[in-house]
Amino acid sequence: MNQQTSADQLPSSLAVRLVKLYRRMEAAYDIVARQLDFSCRACPDNCCDSYFLHHTRIEWAYLREGLAQLPPERQAHVMIQARDYQQRAKTALAAGIRPTIMCPLNEAGWCDLYQHRPMICRLHGVPSSLRFPSGQVKKFPGCFRSQELTAGHPAIPMVERASLLQELVMLEGLMPSGSTSSGFTRLKVQKSIAEMILEELP
Ligand code: SF4
Repeated sequence: MNQQTSADQLPSSLAVRLVKLYRRMEAAYDIVARQLDFSCRACPDNCCDSYFLHHTRIEWAYLREGLAQLPPERQAHVMIQARDYQQRAKTALAAGIRPTIMCPLNEAGWCDLYQHRPMICRLHGVPSSLRFPSGQVKKFPGCFRSQELTAGHPAIPMVERASLLQELVMLEGLMPSGSTSSGFTRLKVQKSIAEMILEELP
């Protein structure tokens, strides 16, 4: 059974700030979705099989907080799914293939931890951009449906990720240090959802 350890515990003041940031992300997403008349409704695809890595301890702790609130039998099921995911992902990566495996938290198309899902799950879908301090801009075209909607669009509306990421990094910096963490190791977090489920925070 998934137990939250002291390293996993997210200070409630930080959780509140993270939730506020998630609301900002959702608001930014909704503006672009409305402009594009974009919706996930009746989508033939499920983007929860996309392979993403997550990079902050704060989101890892918040996900595990949600996990610990699931009924015990649901937690046990998620753990089984996460181990299976982990095994299959390792096999795919060893063969040089990017895994396409349904997220262990997805049950019949729905996210078990919707309120606790990480940033990338909230922003994936609509087009977005990331402006670096150097002025360089990286663009993310969004999912296939979004790309269909924006094809030939003269001025594609986008969620700008920079200020959202800056705030996430700032909150990450306020996370209490674990036994092995330092500013450097914090930036080194690279975990799939399955790994965040199976592993305690350092
Ligand atoms: S955490 Fe939830 S929203 Fe994110 S990939 Fe998994 S099931 Fe989908």
